[in-house]
Amino acid sequence: MTSSDKRILLIHTGGTIGMEGEVHLEPGHYASALFEQLPEYIGFARIDSTILCNLDSSDIGPKLWGELSRIIAAHRAQYDGFIVVHGTDTMPYTASALAFALEGLDKPVVLTGAQRPMGALRNDARRNLADAIEVTTLDIPEVAICFDGVLLRGCRSCKVNTRAYHAFDTPGCEPLARLGVDITLGAHIRRPVTAFRCCPNFDANVMVVHVSPGMKAGTLMRLIEGERCLDGIVLVPFGVGTIPCLDSDIGSFVQRASDLGIDILVANASVGKIDLSLYENSQALVRAGAISGREIRLEAAVVKLMHACATFQDRDERHEYLRWNVAGEMG
Ligand code: ASP
Repeated sequence: MTSSDKRILLIHTGGTIGMEGEVHLEPGHYASALFEQLPEYIGFARIDSTILCNLDSSDIGPKLWGELSRIIAAHRAQYDGFIVVHGTDTMPYTASALAFALEGLDKPVVLTGAQRPMGALRNDARRNLADAIEVTTLDIPEVAICFDGVLLRGCRSCKVNTRAYHAFDTPGCEPLARLGVDITLGAHIRRPVTAFRCCPNFDANVMVVHVSPGMKAGTLMRLIEGERCLDGIVLVPFGVGTIPCLDSDIGSFVQRASDLGIDILVANASVGKIDLSLYENSQALVRAGAISGREIRLEAAVVKLMHACATFQDRDERHEYLRWNVAGEMG
């Protein structure tokens, strides 16, 4: 099959790429016509497009992740790949959501966007979209972000720069592809190991607790007192997983949260693996049943916990899922 036989569905969700003007960036009417800017790609592949929404990506969350997943699942048989045009601010969250919702994915789902709108001079929109079209015709069965000449694993990604065209990175994980004169594919591209299924639900009652020096357990306790409003906490400790124990007993907060049935997933603020076995100052987390996310990034951790809480009623099943390296998010 050549690229011109490939069928791609482009799903527009919004973002700067389709916005108008330099100052007040508001969703513009030409979002649906992005492809008119790339006439040379007509015939490169058979591309259909649809608009899910036209939003700043700060307004995209659990409900739209579910809708997006359902659209992709429903059209899976008709298309060889999917492009999701998306704002950059929350692109790593949506990419993670799709990676978890579309279990056993067997074709590319490529998110892209831009730092400058398609209508602006010296924009990055044109290149990003053109690159996204090309990689979507390749055999890369992953949810990925295509931006500034690299294809990145979506569930390892984070936004690293708001002013440069190199907006995303996957610390500790090589790009899935580099788009230079040639397109070079990484040897670590994943293949599906389970049958495809779409699990499109996410529980928004998850929050992040980023540990800082002197943080008071009492302050945190207020989050979990009274009527239950949290189902999960992503805890970001220091280093490989330490928390302050002398002056502030964060461990007792984690224990109390766990006793109340709130799941705790430990994510890494830097590059490297969480290892709760190394230091005494991690042991309270182990005793409380906190789960190590290993190399998981904050963005993927939040979404994975939301997904686990919405998908599994049984706590053991939820924990088993959280320990499973679903889409390469854990390293
Ligand atoms: N605020 C925009 C968004 O995320 C930024 C962008 O697209 O680059 O929708």
